Amino acid sequence: MTIQPLKIPTTDGNPIIIAGPCAAESEAQLHAIAKRLVELDIHIMRAGVWKPRTKPGSFEGRGNIALEWMKNVMAATGIRMATEVATPKHVEDCLESGIDVLWIGARTSTNPFAVQNIADALRGTDVTVLVKNPVSPDVDLWIGALERLAGAGITRIAAIHRGFSQFGSKVYRNAPMWQVPIELRRRLPQLPIIGDPSHIGGKRELVYPLSQEALDLGFDGLMIECHNNPKEALSDSKQQLTPDELGEILNKIKVRDRCNHGDELDAMRRDIDLLDSQLIDLLSQRMSISRKIGQIKQQENMTILQAARFNSMLEQRIAEGRNQKLSDDFIGNLFATIHEESIRQQIHKEQDSTNDSLNN
Ligand code: PEP
Ligand code: MN
Repeated sequence: MTIQPLKIPTTDGNPIIIAGPCAAESEAQLHAIAKRLVELDIHIMRAGVWKPRTKPGSFEGRGNIALEWMKNVMAATGIRMATEVATPKHVEDCLESGIDVLWIGARTSTNPFAVQNIADALRGTDVTVLVKNPVSPDVDLWIGALERLAGAGITRIAAIHRGFSQFGSKVYRNAPMWQVPIELRRRLPQLPIIGDPSHIGGKRELVYPLSQEALDLGFDGLMIECHNNPKEALSDSKQQLTPDELGEILNKIKVRDRCNHGDELDAMRRDIDLLDSQLIDLLSQRMSISRKIGQIKQQENMTILQAARFNSMLEQRIAEGRNQKLSDDFIGNLFATIHEESIRQQIHKEQDSTNDSLNN
């Protein structure tokens, strides 16, 4: 697979930053955001023209009229535009409008027929194409989509990590499953990877930590949703930042030194940090289930402590731990602590306000 440097302006060693609204809503909105992005030294703006919504009936993008607005905004500000394409017709319309950064969305990258059609429509062009991960954590499907583009002669390619669909209540809108982009990097070391903290987090307060996590892992850039009036946004309003908030995050994030100076320690510590944050996420999911169990026990007039269940659970965990070379004491103590907290939460039926507001 031939991969050429992206035709996206970067300042040496700094991450590629793409920012802009989830969707192009009006020409005035695009102008207002573009102006602020240029002030923040961001030269590539995202805006969805055709929005793939999970359910029908919600805002599905303005369609082709938005391409006209984008053309005007590009001419007025010099900013470049990026948008999502899902069909050959989208590709054709974007090319006609001078949009030369295209991305394939997570729902489309799951479908090899759709990706092949897009790749064929792009044959012979020199545009930059970003491929979002498929909604399921299937690294082969993701690589397959990238290969279809490469097979059509597209060489300016990058991947976007936007997280993976999951069932049930959760902290993240889309589970980051960092091991998937890590595997992609291992398999295609030359391929730039861009983090999409907005669609992973689904809420603005998660954009900063997720951006930092992506950079800690050596990602090459970030795509961040930014709106002049996020609360009124027609799609993804909870995750969009104001330009001021975006500026603060960009000032705050630390770009890591890619060359390791032979220091493996840093890399390993980052792995540990990452695993710990996954542990915390899992514990939070576990406690939220415990609280629901607490409610059912109350309705059924059952005791909160079910000693037989606790004993069998403990035995099973200790046996499982033993298989992974973890000591009986360690696993026993760990699960006793977890169980104790679970009981405490069931008794007090605490609404963990952080989580509940995060899980909205
Ligand atoms: C988007 O970027 O606005 C979008 C719809 O993303 P995804 O394909 O990641 O859901
Ligand atoms: Mn969006």
